[in-house]
Amino acid sequence: MQRGASDQEIKSAYRKLAMQFHPDRNPNNPDAEEKFKECSEAYAILADSEKRSMYDRFGHAGVGGPAAGAGFDPSVFQDFNQRGADLREDIAIEFEEAVFGAEKTISYRRHELCNACNGSGSANAKTPTPCRTCGGRGQVRYQQGFFSIARTCPACQGAGTVVSDPCTKCRGEGRNIQQKTVEAKIPAGVEDETRIRFSGLGEAGVHGGPAGDLYLVLNVKDHPFFERRGTDLHCIVPISFTQAALGSEIQVPTLEGEHALKIPEGTQSGAVLKLRSKGVPVLNGHGKGDLFVEVRVQTPTKLNKRQRELLQELQSTTPIENKPQRHTLFGKVKEIFNEL
Ligand SMILES: [Zn+2]
Ligand SMILES: [Zn+2]
Repeated sequence: MQRGASDQEIKSAYRKLAMQFHPDRNPNNPDAEEKFKECSEAYAILADSEKRSMYDRFGHAGVGGPAAGAGFDPSVFQDFNQRGADLREDIAIEFEEAVFGAEKTISYRRHELCNACNGSGSANAKTPTPCRTCGGRGQVRYQQGFFSIARTCPACQGAGTVVSDPCTKCRGEGRNIQQKTVEAKIPAGVEDETRIRFSGLGEAGVHGGPAGDLYLVLNVKDHPFFERRGTDLHCIVPISFTQAALGSEIQVPTLEGEHALKIPEGTQSGAVLKLRSKGVPVLNGHGKGDLFVEVRVQTPTKLNKRQRELLQELQSTTPIENKPQRHTLFGKVKEIFNEL
């Protein structure tokens, strides 16, 4: 079998050999029986992608075959099978923190190398001995019909080694749960659900294996009135009928304080006005998005006598048009952008 063979090649090669050496076809032939066992075992290794990557890198020694007992090096296993799990911590951040960036101290719990035994799992720092149940392989095989099935050794949980005097602090696992903090620099412009990876800050590996990674997942809180779309911000600002008709300059909120916005004469309700570069910084880039202000004309609901007279006078001089319009015309109002 060539290293790096495809799954299909492995399967068909195995099937051929298994047919050839199957005990049913070779009664009273110990040679064939031995060959059949060998190729079943080889198949079990090669069918397991993790084991196979070790085989591809280290050949037979990497997976601890029958001949590997003497010079067995448990670290070969630890590098591959005992990596600590990745951790996920969800943290809530303010809308403004996502826009401008922030520095956060995150507290979380993870398995760390046990200080008492320095990760060995042994109370007296004895070197772990190869597991007798699996012969140091970390896996046991059993026959199920045609196949030899490999499964994680129940005696050593796949470590391939056992500790005769387990450390009391970690019960022989070589790691225990500890509270940790991490300083997280949140860059300006992050979005909701952004994941920040901290390599090696996840769970410590078992029996001194490499640690997993820590992922911080940012949950950005909503803003009372700004809605974010990518790097752009949107908000709705009410204006009076006269401001819309006569034109005006109003103060609108931005994330960096109030900003003047010109309402042109004859602005329709629902018009969207743009304030350039008042949006969200581009993440890891240059520039900012824009702030879009949708103006909504408020119809006065309470009129005093004087206001009523003025509006009635206005009405008498205004040509009235109530012809129905196509729906699309209403939509077009929103497409009017006024750049400042
Ligand atoms: Zn310990
Ligand atoms: Zn074992």
